[in-house]
Amino acid sequence: MAIVASRPNSVGSGLTSTGAAPGGQPPAPAWQQIVKRAVRDPAELLRRLDLPPPPRNPDGAHRQFHTFVPEPYLSRIRPGDARDPLLLQVLPQAPELDDEAGFLADPVGDLASLRRPGLIHKYHGRALLLASGACAVHCRYCFRRHFPYQSAAAAERELEGTFGELATDLGIREVILSGGDPLMMTDQRFRRLVARLATLEQLTRLRIHTRLPIVIPQRVTGKLVESLSGLRLKVVVVLHANHPREIDGDVMAATARLAGSGALLLNQSVLLRGVNDDEQTLIELSERLIAAGVLPYYLHQLDRVRGAAHFEVPVKRGKTLMAALRRALPGYAVPRYVREDAGAPAKTVLA
Ligand SMILES: *Cc1c(COP(=O)(O)O)cnc(C)c1O
Ligand code: SF4
Repeated sequence: MAIVASRPNSVGSGLTSTGAAPGGQPPAPAWQQIVKRAVRDPAELLRRLDLPPPPRNPDGAHRQFHTFVPEPYLSRIRPGDARDPLLLQVLPQAPELDDEAGFLADPVGDLASLRRPGLIHKYHGRALLLASGACAVHCRYCFRRHFPYQSAAAAERELEGTFGELATDLGIREVILSGGDPLMMTDQRFRRLVARLATLEQLTRLRIHTRLPIVIPQRVTGKLVESLSGLRLKVVVVLHANHPREIDGDVMAATARLAGSGALLLNQSVLLRGVNDDEQTLIELSERLIAAGVLPYYLHQLDRVRGAAHFEVPVKRGKTLMAALRRALPGYAVPRYVREDAGAPAKTVLA
């Protein structure tokens, strides 16, 4: 998805550290150990789920964008179901390598909007900071699967320059932390970044786009909640869940902790074929989000990224689904159906 979603990772970027603590230090928090132990081999993923090898060899897809599935997410996938909507989001498949006309490496023109390393300024008043190149899961539909993180994400030594640039642009009122996934940063680094941003006087809001509280709810640590509590900036956290089964009891507990910081909680989803392109699933997703204290914000039309064509749902079908949601749900539980168009001044509202 666009800024949003969160992005692919290759574990390890300037701001991310999941390495073992050196001697004498307290052990790494549970969430970092979960990241370390994530399943990275498609054959192992299938074995764990009692599934046979697929008819077409997926190794090429895996090489292009590595398999990465942490345990808490894996545990929500139904064994023996090759069409499980959570599995389809993370399992590399041979069709990813099929070339489809109109599907590009950088479909939303992010590289053209890079203002300096790690800083994308596309929309009025909001600047996006690529705070980490890493993610806690690799989503096969992700529009950033080809993104050159090593060069585009902000390395820590470059951040001061970015803060300097932000300080001179009084039009920017909101900084959006994205990535990768900004919550892949350690608690200490995250706290430092957020505290530094709060010193920029013209900022009124801090937004965090993250899939981590969904994928590894243990990431919502007391320290994280503390660094968001009592900030001068209004904090908005945009989660990224695509299917109601992604929101289990642990995730509900994590959103409750996050809400305790005073942050406004929103969710964005991507409309994905075989995952959530039916009325009942989308209705249940909204119901589940509201139960978790999270407002559905955006339902994204898929960005036309090379490798994701098999996930595309026609816009006409998306509009029909939106009409069904409007009939079935209270207005506050209906997301806006949007598409990111390269060069446009805002997301395009489709319904
Ligand atoms: C989507 C996006 C935003 C935020 O857009 P909202 O409509 O405010 O959610 C900001 N910057 C970039 C580069 C984006 O893609
Ligand atoms: S969490 Fe998934 S969708 Fe979000 S950036 Fe990472 S790979 Fe992309």
